[in-house]
Amino acid sequence: MIKKTMMATVSILGMALGAAAVAGPVTDADLLNDAKTPTSVLTNGIGLQGHRFSPLKEINTSNVKNLVPAWSLSFGGEKQRGQEAQALVHDGVVYVTASYSRIFAADARTGDKIWEYDARLPEGIMPCCDVINRGAAIYGDKVFFGTLDAQIVALDAKTGKVVWHKAVDDFKAGYSISSAPIVVPTKANGALLITGLAGGEFGVVGRVEAYNVDNGELVWSRPVLEGLAGSYRGKESSVTGKVNETWAGDEFKTGGGATWLGGTYDPELKLLYFGTGNPAPWNSWTRPGDNRWTASRIAINPENGELVWGFQTTPHDGWDYDGVNEFIPFDLVKDGKTVKAGGTADRNGFFYVLDRTNGKFISAMPFVSKITWAKGIDATGRPIYNDEFRPGDPAKSEDGKKGKEVFAVPSFLGGKNQMPVAYSDQTKLFYVPSNEWGMDIHNEPVVFKKGAAFLGAGFNIKPIFDDHIGSLKAIDPVAQKVIWEYKNKAPLWGGVLATAGGLVFTGTPEGYLKAFDAKNGKELWKFNVGTGIVAPPIAWEQDGEEMIGIAAGWGGAVPLWGGEVAKSFKGIDQGGSYWVFKLAPRSAAK
Ligand code: CA
Repeated sequence: MIKKTMMATVSILGMALGAAAVAGPVTDADLLNDAKTPTSVLTNGIGLQGHRFSPLKEINTSNVKNLVPAWSLSFGGEKQRGQEAQALVHDGVVYVTASYSRIFAADARTGDKIWEYDARLPEGIMPCCDVINRGAAIYGDKVFFGTLDAQIVALDAKTGKVVWHKAVDDFKAGYSISSAPIVVPTKANGALLITGLAGGEFGVVGRVEAYNVDNGELVWSRPVLEGLAGSYRGKESSVTGKVNETWAGDEFKTGGGATWLGGTYDPELKLLYFGTGNPAPWNSWTRPGDNRWTASRIAINPENGELVWGFQTTPHDGWDYDGVNEFIPFDLVKDGKTVKAGGTADRNGFFYVLDRTNGKFISAMPFVSKITWAKGIDATGRPIYNDEFRPGDPAKSEDGKKGKEVFAVPSFLGGKNQMPVAYSDQTKLFYVPSNEWGMDIHNEPVVFKKGAAFLGAGFNIKPIFDDHIGSLKAIDPVAQKVIWEYKNKAPLWGGVLATAGGLVFTGTPEGYLKAFDAKNGKELWKFNVGTGIVAPPIAWEQDGEEMIGIAAGWGGAVPLWGGEVAKSFKGIDQGGSYWVFKLAPRSAAK
């Protein structure tokens, strides 16, 4: 009898969604339709646009209280640390990356492990912010991911055997890969695997690169620093910007701008959007000029790697306000007009809306409290600096060794960091996992040395409120308003999922996966996974049932760099597992 009811549910759900399961090799069309095909999750961002919105609605505001664990998979090993990955789901298999550059394939119904691949990292890797990985890409019959020794690995999706691997750069120079790559179809070169690079704290050259999915050959490379030439099919291509327009001397050659959080893609305009990290070193007195395109969003033509536009959120950054945060294409409907826009919550504490066709500034609003470094954003999108809150020039100090210390808000870990936002196609709101904190920061002299930290700064992060640091906010990008806020004691470091069931999911360092009413922020459900959550959740439909998945395992940048805020997360234990939830069988649900 129960079985019969279940079957009825399956067919109704199937009809409502009209979704056929994607099976066999993953195609261009599968990737482009990912956001609308809930039987699989084929891209980082749940759709190349990165909305992290699931059309599933079996789990909704009235029954989410009946959500129970379906299975859990241990990442095993003695070494655990932070688990920041978003999983993929294809053809009844969950693919999830884990700490120390590992990837697991598990049965999506039971969690039974199918295979595991461990990249076996060499001595001397230099990840800035824990040994994390944020996820894989899938195309054809292969899965791909980047490793902390700056390699891309392509594996047979069925067996986990290596098909090809490729060194993107020299890990001994500070390069690593922690972001999820994306696969984007092109006319000229077929499907391309697109990746960014990490290493902004070591003075690397930030760039975006595209590789042939079949053999790992480099197709194009686009450095983000003005003055450096790109490449296309083995030949030098155009120079990014103009030499020395916003940089002095040779500083752009070690200027940072690491593209460490990966990118999004807009199939409508056929543009890639990437964010770029801090200029190197952190000490801004050593590098006069705006230092483009560090701390920026850039649009790239995926056909040839040419830069289409750039928008700098923090020109001449002096606070480590990386501009890497994801740029989410969405249609902004205002006064009856639809604008092809993009939204992004920057490390610097402002939420920007840009015209995604040309990078023109539309609006900015502060999404965290008590910002000190800027008085606001002017009509062109440029910050109105508050010079008192730029760390002082060490050359002007008495001993020349330590510049004036300032208290800057937000802290260098940002109003928002790596944890991705969700944009609900239903409520038209952005759900932004943010943190309310500041930092004492000062500058010191520094010289570049290959493979060594290139900062020239000392810092200590401090809370700005007694009762919370984490703050999940629902932001209306049209009204430029915070609609609701959920406050969390420890800093939020996991991403967000929004669903057509009217729900928003996110995890906390305290170990809870939580569900909120997307309209008003009311907390409707929580479950403790036994370790801190610093990863984004997903939803998919498995045999007619909606499943919610999340990686669990405390770590990431906060425990490494957190300074005085460490008090708010004392006692959180490490872990390493994947958790999946679904509704309790009807007979059991109250
Ligand atoms: Ca940085």
